Amino acid sequence: MRELTADGIDVVRVSYPDLIGIERARDVLVERLPGAVGHGLSFCRAVYHTTPQGDTVEVPGGMDAGLPDIRVRPDLSTVAKIPWEEGVASCLGEAYEPSGDDLCPEGPREVLRRALAKLGELGLNVVAGPEFEYYLCEPDPASPTGWRPYADAPGNVYTSSRKGDPDGHVLRVLRHLRDFGLDVTMGNHEFGGGQFEINLHHSDALDAADRAFRFKTAVQEIARTEGRLATFMAKPFNDQDGSGFHVHLSCLDADGRNVFEGSQGDGLSETAHHAIGGVLEHAPALAALLNPTINSYKRFGPDSLAPWLIDWGLDNRSSMVRIPPERGAATRMEVRLGDASANPYLGIAGLVAAVYLGVRDKASTPPPLEGYGYDAAKSPALPRDLSAALDALAADEALVEVLGEQFVTAFLTYKRDEVRRFSRHVTDWEFREYSYHL
Ligand code: GLU
Ligand code: MG
Ligand code: MG
Repeated sequence: MRELTADGIDVVRVSYPDLIGIERARDVLVERLPGAVGHGLSFCRAVYHTTPQGDTVEVPGGMDAGLPDIRVRPDLSTVAKIPWEEGVASCLGEAYEPSGDDLCPEGPREVLRRALAKLGELGLNVVAGPEFEYYLCEPDPASPTGWRPYADAPGNVYTSSRKGDPDGHVLRVLRHLRDFGLDVTMGNHEFGGGQFEINLHHSDALDAADRAFRFKTAVQEIARTEGRLATFMAKPFNDQDGSGFHVHLSCLDADGRNVFEGSQGDGLSETAHHAIGGVLEHAPALAALLNPTINSYKRFGPDSLAPWLIDWGLDNRSSMVRIPPERGAATRMEVRLGDASANPYLGIAGLVAAVYLGVRDKASTPPPLEGYGYDAAKSPALPRDLSAALDALAADEALVEVLGEQFVTAFLTYKRDEVRRFSRHVTDWEFREYSYHL
C-alpha cells in the first residue's frame, strides 16, 4: 500500500479472465486492498456465463446452483501501473471456489497450469511468444456497424510511418505497453487497411498468456482513449484479411535447453517432430479453443495467409504449423491456427496439452508441406465451422482429460449456446439474398 500510494496510485483494478478471455474486474481503493488480498474479492460466478451481449448461459454450477460467488485473490506479483489511466494500477487475480481453498477448475489460468503440469511430468516446460493482429476502427455513422477501418486507406503490409498510421497510434501503443511491463517487441502495419500487428517477447507459457490477456485489454483501452475501437474479431470485414493470433512455441528441459533443436535433416529433434505431430493430430479440437467464435471460420481460406488445412511446413506461411528458419536456441514452431478472438490462456493451454500428448505418445508427423499450402488434396481439412470444432473437442478424450472435464463442459455449454443463439438470428445478408426475388 505504501509503495502504491508513493507511486500516486489510489485504485487497484483487480481483474480476471472469463471463459472467453474478456477482462472482468473490480476497482478497489488502495486502502481496501489488504482485505481483498486475504479473503479475495467476491465475483458472481456469472463471470463464467454472461456473454458479451449480456445474455446468460446455463453453465453447470451457475444459475442452477443459485449463482454462487467465486473469490478472486489478487496476485500481487502482477501489479502494474496503468500508463494511460491516471492513479490506477492493474493486478491479475486468481479465482477460488467459495470455500477459498480450491482454485476454480474452469479458471483459464488454472486450465493452462494444469496442462503445464502434465508436460512437467515429462520434464519439459513451454516457452511461448504470442503475436496479435487487430483492426483499428473509427466511428462512421454511415456504416451499418457504426465503424470503418482507421485511416480509411487501402491496406498494405509494413506500410511505414504516417501513411498507414496518420496519428501515430502504433507508437502510442508500443510505448504504453512497454511502460505497462508487457514486454512487447515491435509493431507494424498489416495487410488490411487499419490492421496492425504487435509482437510480444517470448517467455514461460503462463507469463506469456498473462501478458497476452492484458495486451488485448490494453490495446482496446488505448483505442478508446483515442475515440476508436480496436477489434480482435477474427474476420471483421468481408474484403480484408482476418486477424491472426500466432503462437511461437518451443520446449525446454530442466536445464533450460531447447529440446526442439536437433540433428535430423531439417535441424529439428525427434521431440520436435512428436510435438508437431501432437498439434496436427489434435488440431480439430484445438480449433475450438484457438478459433472459438462463429466468425473465426470465415478467416480460414485459400490464399489468406491463415491456414485452411491441417499441415506443417519449413518456413512456409501457407501451412498451419510453420517452422521458422532459425535454429539453435531459437528452434521453434509457429502455430498459425489461432485467430485474435481466442482467449490466450485457453489457446496456449490447448497447444501445451497437444504438445504433451504428442511427445508422450510419440506422435508421428507426415512429410512437411512443399510449396503452395492451399491444395485440399494434400492435407486433411480444419473444421468447417464452430459446431464441428466443438464436436471435435468433445470427442478428443485425451485432450479433454488434460484440460479438465469440468472446464471443457463449461466451455462447450457456453459455446454451443452461442451457436444456438446465432442460428436463431436473422442477418442482413439473408435479407439481401432472400427478400426481393424469391
Ligand atoms: N492475417 C493473417 C492471419 O489471419 C496472417 C498474416 C501474416 O502472416 O502476418 O493469420
Ligand atoms: Mg502478421
Ligand atoms: Mg506470424
